[in-house]
Amino acid sequence: MKIAIDGPAGAGKSTIARRVAASLGYIYVDTGAMYRAMALYLLRCGVAADDAGSQAKACRSADISIRFEGGEQQVILNGENVSALIRSEEVSRMASVSSANPVIREKLVSLQRKLADETSVVMDGRDIGTVVLPDAELKIYLTASARVRAERRFKEMAEKGALDGKTLEEIEASIIERDERDMTRETSPLRRADDAHLVDSSAMTIEEVTAAILELIHG
Ligand code: C5P
Repeated sequence: MKIAIDGPAGAGKSTIARRVAASLGYIYVDTGAMYRAMALYLLRCGVAADDAGSQAKACRSADISIRFEGGEQQVILNGENVSALIRSEEVSRMASVSSANPVIREKLVSLQRKLADETSVVMDGRDIGTVVLPDAELKIYLTASARVRAERRFKEMAEKGALDGKTLEEIEASIIERDERDMTRETSPLRRADDAHLVDSSAMTIEEVTAAILELIHG
């Protein structure tokens, strides 16, 4: 069984996907973490964000894999667990740009398909229902207004003490910029698959969204 959850940045995909997976006893695969690990590798190699040719070349020597510890996905980059290093603003920005690179996508999509072949998964990302798992039994396109997504991100960062003086407006602008890049890129742009259920979580709690998705599965 494969469940695909796609949507823009900050829509709550990972929180929801994790809950749905736990409730079904499936594995939750966060594909954004793989693009982030690749971005970290490119930053470490000193490759520029606008140098697609060098990115395509450098990505060949990045061995990315995932493993699960206590049910939590860990991302391994050339043998090193980098899970705690991939959530910075610098990595987010690089991942948003380098994920448009078709060579990088090809490499990570094949890893994602392999994972889904091996076990039942809830996989979240931008192109899961359209490209990675077009035959998924259930597809969800999870979204919310840019303002609501920015407010959630702001609150989450404030709680972690990670705001660094950033305002809500700045966070919203960065979310809109990332969405725009994901939706307009040539390879695998973010879009709702024709057979995906649209869930707008702007006025819904985490519990309500999780329940709505489980209802779609159990009928
Ligand atoms: O979901 P998350 O914000 O962690 O993803 C990081 C970046 O990776 C996104 O900005 C997006 O550009 C890219 N991504 C992608 N395709 C996926 C998952 C993530 O292009 N399946």
